[in-house]
Amino acid sequence: MKIVLAGDVGGTTTRLGTFDFSGTRPQRLALRTYETRDFSGIAKMAATFVRDERIDPLSIASACFGAAGPVSNGVAQLTNTPVRVDAAEIARAIGVANVALLNDLEALAYAVPVLASDEVHVLQAGHADPEGAVAVIAAGTGLGEAALYRDSRLGGRPVAKASEGGRADFAARTDVEILVLRTLTWAHGRAAVEEVISGPGLANIHRALHAARCDAMIDFDRPDAPEMISTSAVAGQCKHCVEALDVFVGAYGAEAGNLALRTVATGGVYIGGGIAPRILPALTTGKFLSAFRAKHPFTAMLDAIPVNVILNEEAGLLGAANFCSLT
Ligand SMILES: [Zn+2]
Repeated sequence: MKIVLAGDVGGTTTRLGTFDFSGTRPQRLALRTYETRDFSGIAKMAATFVRDERIDPLSIASACFGAAGPVSNGVAQLTNTPVRVDAAEIARAIGVANVALLNDLEALAYAVPVLASDEVHVLQAGHADPEGAVAVIAAGTGLGEAALYRDSRLGGRPVAKASEGGRADFAARTDVEILVLRTLTWAHGRAAVEEVISGPGLANIHRALHAARCDAMIDFDRPDAPEMISTSAVAGQCKHCVEALDVFVGAYGAEAGNLALRTVATGGVYIGGGIAPRILPALTTGKFLSAFRAKHPFTAMLDAIPVNVILNEEAGLLGAANFCSLT
C-alpha cells in the first residue's frame, strides 16, 4: 500500500503522521508529536519519525509539510523560532523525491474539503457556493489568513494561496478599538491586525483598556496570559477580562468579514487556530457574526456565507495529507 507522510510544523510542537490516501478523505495511520526545538531541523525529525515508525521509504508516495512561517523556494523560516524547514533537505533525509512545503494556513485550507460535520461548529449556516473561494483565518500565537480557490475552468482542483494578512494594518471600527489602535501605535508606531487578533493581542487589548488592573490577578508578561484571560472571561472572574474578550471577538468577526470581502469567500469562512474552540461561548453570542456581516453594501453576501469554527486540532496535518492526495 502506498501512503503519504504529512507534517504540521509549529513554533512549539510539530505533528508528523502517515495517511492512507486511497479513499476520498486521507485516513491517518500513524501520528507522533515532537517538540520542534528538540531537533536542529525538520529533516532530522522526519528521519527519526520514519525510523521509529519503521516505515519503508519506498511505500511513501509523497510528503507534504505545513509550516508556521512564510515559504519561499521550498524553504520556510518559522516565525519566532530559529528552525528552518527545507523541502529538499527533508527529501534527502527520508529518501522521498516528492516533498511539498506549504504555509500552515495553506495546509489548513486543504483540510476544509474533507472536514466531517462533527469537526466543525457552525456559527452561520448560510448557503455555500460550491465554486466559491473558501477563506481560512486562524488566531493563535499570531494571526494566519489564507484562501482556497476552486475553479472549474482550471479542472476543479482546489488551490490554496497563503497571505501575510496578519501583518496588515488593524482597521479599528469603534471608539474602544480606536483606543486599542492608539495605544499600540504609541508603543510600536503601527498596529498590525495580529497585535489585536491573536493570543498576545487579547493581552494587548486588556492592557490598552485597563493597564495592568485585573481582578483575576493575571500577570500579562506570562506566556500563558492569553489563555488565562479567556478562561477568566468565559468564567466571568474579571470584568476587564470579559470586556477584553468581547472586544477581541468583535475585532475577530470584523477581520473575518474583511477576509471574506477580499477573497469573495462565498464557499465559506473557516475559523481555525487554538483560540476559537476555547472561546466558543463568546463566539456564539452574536457579536462575532454581527461584526462579520456589517459590511454595507455587501451585508447580503456576508449573510449567505457559511461560517464555521474548526474543532479538529489536527486539521492542519489532515490538510497537508490531503494536498498530497490531490496532487
Ligand atoms: Zn482581567
